[in-house]
Amino acid sequence: MPTDPQIAELAQAVARTRSAVVFTGAGISTESGIPDFRSPGGIWTRMAPIDFSDFLASEEARRETWRRRFAMEDTFREAQPNRGHRAVAELVRRGKVAAVITQNIDGLHQASGIADDRVIELHGNTTYAHCLDCKSRYELTALRTVFERDETAPICDDCGGYVKTATISFGQAMPVDAMRRAEIETLAADLFIVAGSSLVVYPAAGFPQLAKHNGATLVIINREPTGLDHIADIVVHRSIGEILGAAVGVD
Ligand SMILES: [Zn+2]
Repeated sequence: MPTDPQIAELAQAVARTRSAVVFTGAGISTESGIPDFRSPGGIWTRMAPIDFSDFLASEEARRETWRRRFAMEDTFREAQPNRGHRAVAELVRRGKVAAVITQNIDGLHQASGIADDRVIELHGNTTYAHCLDCKSRYELTALRTVFERDETAPICDDCGGYVKTATISFGQAMPVDAMRRAEIETLAADLFIVAGSSLVVYPAAGFPQLAKHNGATLVIINREPTGLDHIADIVVHRSIGEILGAAVGVD
């Protein structure tokens, strides 16, 4: 048994669970070098996010969206899953965790070996793009080559619709199917582990509350205090990779 009391407590909760859900936010991916856009000093405190209605209305807004996205491309492409992602993947592999609900758009849970259908992305995915109308998929490398030639925002080859990363922008409706699946998985969980979310963004932050009210054990692992620490059964303000890695036995 681990000697660190917080790690031991978490290891016991994991040993007891029959069906857990892990809910992740930016804090798990900062340990892979992905910046937290919402944090103090983060990109969105220096540069206003582009609202979805502006993306639809203005060629210049679309161009600026793509300029910003390609400026981030090396960071996203080089990021690798860290010890925290590997610990979550191991829990899925062992059958302990049925689903991972994530606010992250970086695809690192899938890159850690978790099947697509086990990852519920509340804010979509930025590692590929799609047509907003017909949903045809586009890869960023090909879009970037064309964009860098003349800075024209890409449109769909099939239907002429606007092509955008597969993320949910500010002002864009939450994905109905992902929200519904997240609720079903939350209600089926006897253990709900939050890793790296400050739990301030609704409706996403409603899931840990729902789990707790439904009788699940609630664990929160986050560097900073969160809005739901007071209702959690276990609260750990330390590195996710260190804590989850040690509790699960993954390096
Ligand atoms: Zn299309």
